[in-house]
Amino acid sequence: MAMLADNLFKRIIDGKISAKIIHDDDLCIAFHDIGPQAPVHVLIIPKKVIPTHDALTPEDGPLIGHLHLVAVNLAQELGLAEGYRLVINCKDRGGQTVPHLHMHLLGGRDFHWPPG
Ligand code: AMP
Repeated sequence: MAMLADNLFKRIIDGKISAKIIHDDDLCIAFHDIGPQAPVHVLIIPKKVIPTHDALTPEDGPLIGHLHLVAVNLAQELGLAEGYRLVINCKDRGGQTVPHLHMHLLGGRDFHWPPG
């Protein structure tokens, strides 16, 4: 993860790298994942640079709530009424590869547990 400290996602927010953006507001953007793991695979990311989930502070509470509500709206728009999965990978052992907090919205197929 440290290898990507330049923060790819901040570059997408700043418009320096293109992405298929499907949502943009004051607090966050959402775009299609470049390597989809399901028929629907969207990343929802805060515009505020927060490197990992465990870097969240109490002041970020409303922001995290907002990301979840954006996920609800996108799930409806993308036809995921039967269900979906939200994932936040944290640091190396959680499988995080980009050091900018992001929520995966996955849908369009069945998901299983344990997640592997
Ligand atoms: P994570 O492994 O949780 O850090 O997730 C990072 C995600 O970013 C992966 O699912 C990648 O496929 C995705 N990704 C990497 N580069 C891009 C990009 N340029 N545009 C869209 N998604 C990307």
